[in-house]
Amino acid sequence: MGYLSQLEPVDGRRRIRVDNPVDGSEVLTFSVANADDVREMVERARNAQKSWGRTSVADRVKKMQAALAILVKEHETFIERLTAETGRAPLDTLMIEIYAACDSMNYYSGRAGKVLADRTVGLHLMRHKKAKIITRPLGVVAVISPWNGPFVLSINPTIQAVLAGNAVIVKPSEVTPTAGLLVEELFRRAGFPEHLVQVALGDGETGAALLESGVQKVSFTGSVRTGRKVGEICGRNLVPFTLELGGKDAMLVCGDADLDRAAAGALFGGMMNSGQFCSAVERVFVEKSVAASFIGRLVAKASELELGRDLGPFIFEPQADTVRRHIDSAIEAGARVLIGGTVVEDRGRGRYMGPTVVTDIPDDADLMKEETFGPVLAVRVVEDIREAIKLANDNQYGLGASVWSRDPKKAEAIARVLEAGAVTINETALTYGALELPFGGVKASGVGRVNGADGLLNFSQQLPIIADRLGNKEEPVWYPYTPDKFENLQKGLKYMFGTPLRYVLR
Ligand code: NAD
Repeated sequence: MGYLSQLEPVDGRRRIRVDNPVDGSEVLTFSVANADDVREMVERARNAQKSWGRTSVADRVKKMQAALAILVKEHETFIERLTAETGRAPLDTLMIEIYAACDSMNYYSGRAGKVLADRTVGLHLMRHKKAKIITRPLGVVAVISPWNGPFVLSINPTIQAVLAGNAVIVKPSEVTPTAGLLVEELFRRAGFPEHLVQVALGDGETGAALLESGVQKVSFTGSVRTGRKVGEICGRNLVPFTLELGGKDAMLVCGDADLDRAAAGALFGGMMNSGQFCSAVERVFVEKSVAASFIGRLVAKASELELGRDLGPFIFEPQADTVRRHIDSAIEAGARVLIGGTVVEDRGRGRYMGPTVVTDIPDDADLMKEETFGPVLAVRVVEDIREAIKLANDNQYGLGASVWSRDPKKAEAIARVLEAGAVTINETALTYGALELPFGGVKASGVGRVNGADGLLNFSQQLPIIADRLGNKEEPVWYPYTPDKFENLQKGLKYMFGTPLRYVLR
């Protein structure tokens, strides 16, 4: 047991071996990059970025299209290599990692020219000045990613950063280093300049070194615990950052919901990637009037899933213990497991868990409060939807949520009061893949947004330039200050904002 082992150091560098969770075969052994290695990488990245930042957006897009062509052509090899270190169902890898990466490359290639172009801006007040906004790259961007969607969460920010003219250092999770290597390889093979996209293999030591290495932006995806550390260091160094952190997504099932769709949605939203994704449905609040029918459907559908085909093992082995602990303590407090609930350890080397549905859980149990990150749905029967909203919001996290009802107006009214970064209606697990939409959490689920129509601008400096166009010798308020100037400005103030003229000056 154990897919990750620390080996004896070589030349003073710690080494980590990663094994395939399914059959225990070795996937990769790598040296942990230390602070010196990281500093050198950042230096090389800075050099590569200088000329890359001056290339036209059209040239960058051409290279991105070459990378897309490679990924489409060789997607089976990518799936194979990514599946070897995660063990998960190949359809999960195709959908979550490859499909999403291809869409991101294509979507941002299509938008980059327009979003990054200079924009002339008409000023509402200073109409006698010319203004424009130009975008320019930030420099070197650090992308630090987790193990649960290791390829897409590394490549999606990299695509946006690179199109915006930056260099990137990807620091993948030590659990899934291949994902980072694949990103580096793909960009190199597509003809991007050497060292523009580099991978720093390592664990927390490498990530921490990267934060102190003088990068111009940090795009972090991972746990709340690490996210807080990243935020503190970036705050001290005054480096802009985004934090995409954990969640405990709630699903609210109204009495008028299509129960077949709701049950199928709960199952997909809760079990995809064996529940190991940030926006997985973890809590289901169902109105009492339909609870028995909904739960019956859910358990029946869950019983059709197969380990290995539909659900892979825990990608990070100790995650099985966290999930087990949440379930055990809920059972001790009176919860009932309707299906699943045990960690299966007799399939090759990996630790698996079948689709699990638990109910009658006390509201203060970890299974209702903390991120479980496994194939587990905690179902809570509520008197009415008001109680569901109150319980859904009574949580430290606020990443995603979903509402299930046949009444669109009611569903939207509920969506508007949920404390979440994104809400879906009669849908689940969609927002990260809808690239037009900003993605991120409220409360402990994160800081800042990724993606969105203007995702590229998150990796750019927007530089406003204002120019005079009248050419007068001086401006009315320049020195010396005189009583006349004060009076004129005062008159202007009253006229412009104290009369209907203000409606024009907007
Ligand atoms: P983690 O916080 O343990 O690790 C994330 C990354 O940070 C890894 O690359 C790790 O090596 C690195 N790291 C560790 N210590 C560091 C330090 N001191 N400084 C800098 N980097 C450091 O998270 P994980 O267990 O790999 O990932 C699972 C978590 O990620 C879950 O909580 C999940 O919800 C969250 N997640 C969030 C999103 C989102 O978009 N909101 C997406 C996927 C996963």
